[in-house]
This record gives sequence, structure tokens and C-alpha cells, in this order.
Amino acid sequence: PERMVSGQVHSQDDSELSLRPQRLSQYIGQQRLKDNLSVFLEAAKGRQEPVDHILFAGPPGLGKTTIAHIIANEMGVSIRTTSGPVVEKSADLAAILTNLQEGDVLFIDEIHRLNTSVEEILYPAMEDFQLDIIIGQGPAARSIKIDIPPFTLIGATTRSGLLSSPLRDRFGVHSRLDFYEPADLHAIITRSAQILGIAIDKEGATELSRRSRGTPRIANRLLRRVRDFAQVKGEGVITCEITRYALDQLEVDSVGLDYLDRKVLLAVIEKFSGGPVGLDTLAACTAEEKGTLEDVCEPYLIQLGFLQRTPRGRVVTQNGYQHFNLVCPHADEA
Ligand code: ADP
Repeated sequence: PERMVSGQVHSQDDSELSLRPQRLSQYIGQQRLKDNLSVFLEAAKGRQEPVDHILFAGPPGLGKTTIAHIIANEMGVSIRTTSGPVVEKSADLAAILTNLQEGDVLFIDEIHRLNTSVEEILYPAMEDFQLDIIIGQGPAARSIKIDIPPFTLIGATTRSGLLSSPLRDRFGVHSRLDFYEPADLHAIITRSAQILGIAIDKEGATELSRRSRGTPRIANRLLRRVRDFAQVKGEGVITCEITRYALDQLEVDSVGLDYLDRKVLLAVIEKFSGGPVGLDTLAACTAEEKGTLEDVCEPYLIQLGFLQRTPRGRVVTQNGYQHFNLVCPHADEA
């Protein structure tokens, strides 16, 4: 089953489009990012140039795609979106690049998953707005250069560590999106409820914002699920009580953890006395993919201060033990 609290896109997340803010001023939280971006956008407009290429890194559901659309919107240009695994051949990317209009934004999600031959097309395109095309074969083969319109590449990745350094170096702006503060999530939930016509009181929004893993996509998803409970089991209004009841039913705990997070923490605690334990071992004994643990589970557990990545492996902290009302055996060192 799909995890309620996964930041990745679900099949039922279809109302996302209507919830997506269109302007920088509607984008909630991430203040430093917004401040910097507004400078870059204004400067580029002043020079009548496209914005420099931008790389956004961070866990799924934090608003990378949204901000890419906003940048295009604010610059008054079109956006073309694709993703790393979708662009299979160099010719596919060449076709996309030659079809861009001057100043357009090309958004490539999961850019760390581009294959190398496709990636190499991007280097001269990003640097000189040129395509290097090889025509012919064998000794008769030669390379020709084609100009393409100046454009802005916006890359998004959940794993900036997996990006090759030549690609990474060609981005002028590198930005990391952080998990949202509860106050920001509160504002996002209130805004979404208004757009979707859902009645929610302040305490309901507060409770929901605490349990949404700092992730707008999860907050919006839980909002819709809790609404069902409010309608059937309550008076139609999302209150703190209804939110607690609904999220308990959905097995999302007081800080937003679900069965998978608990399984991971408890595995480290029970089978490895709190760690350190290597990622491979942890993946094997929880029967989960390494990628899921690294991209989806761990960032939030680390953010909560329940888990640490150390050179020797993962360690559950004192706070992690406390969450289960357990006593941490290595409390003195922590
Ligand atoms: P990502 O590309 O990082 O996986 P998205 O940009 O698709 O995430 O964001 C997921 C959803 O969360 C969006 O549809 C939008 O409704 C909401 N969202 C994300 N960031 C914000 C924000 N800063 N303010 C308001 N809503 C947001």
C-alpha cells in the first residue's frame, strides 16, 4: 500500500494542481530561498537574460516543482517539464532543447537519474546554449554545433549526492529545501482548506501541522483524509479531536511517524542495541529498499533528532528511545 506519510506523489494527490501557489508571494515558508530568488529574478529581468540554472535538492513533497513553476510565472516565460528517468535517449533531450523558446524554463525532476549520454548533451547546452551533434558514423562522423535559445534549466533532486560533479558545477544556484516549520505548515493547511472548502479550526490545523512531517504534500493529503473522518464521525469540522482520532486510525503517530519509521527505529534499537548499523543491514532486516530508507524515512527521523548518520552507521538517539518510552543504553555518550 502507499504510505500515508510518504512525500512521494500518490495517485489520489490529484487536487495538487489547484493547491499549487502561482506566485512567489503565495509560496509559504522557505523565507531565505524566496528572498534570494526574488533578487536573482529581478536581476535577470533587469539584464533581460534568462535566470541562471538552478538546482533544488531536498526530500519529496517540499515544493521543488512548485517553485520551478513560480519562477517561470514570475519571469513571464513558459515551462517545459520532464524527469530524469523519462528522458531515455540523447535525441529526446535534443528535441526538447531545440523546441524551447528564448528564456523558457526547462524543469527536470529527479535529475540525478539522467543517464550519462543524455547528461553530456546538457553540458554545452547549459554552458554555451549549444548542442553538439554527431552526424555520420565511423571515420566519416563529424560533430556539428547547433545554437539553441538561451534558457533556464531547473533541476530537482532528492539525492544531490548522486549528481555527477560536472553536472552539479554547471548550476549557478544551488538551493536546499528544508522541512517546513509547524507554523508554515499551519499556514499551508489553512490556505488549502480554504481553497478546497474544508472547515478546520485552529487547533485542528495545529495538530495536523505537527503530524505532517514538515512536508506540504503530506499536509495536503492528510487534510483530505481527515476531512472524511470529520464528515462521517464528527460534525463536518476538522477539530483537534477529530484530527487525533483520524490520524490514530491511519496509524500516523503524534510526530508524524508511521509503521515504516517505527519499524526502522525499533529494528536499530532491538536488533542492534541502538546502533551503529550500516544502511545495507538495516535495509535487509526491515525488508525495505535502501533508496526508500535514505530518501523518505531517514531525512525526517534525522530532522526530528531520533536518528543519526555516523561514519560507522545509523544510531538511534536518546530522543528516539524516549519516543518509545525506552531507556537509551548509550545515553551518556549522546
Ligand atoms: P516536490 O516537487 O518537491 O516533490 P511539489 O512542488 O510537487 O513538491 O509540492 C507538493 C505540493 O505541496 C504542491 O502541490 C503544493 O500544493 C504544496 N506546496 C509545496 N510547497 C508549498 C509552499 N511553499 N506553499 C504552499 N504549498 C506548497
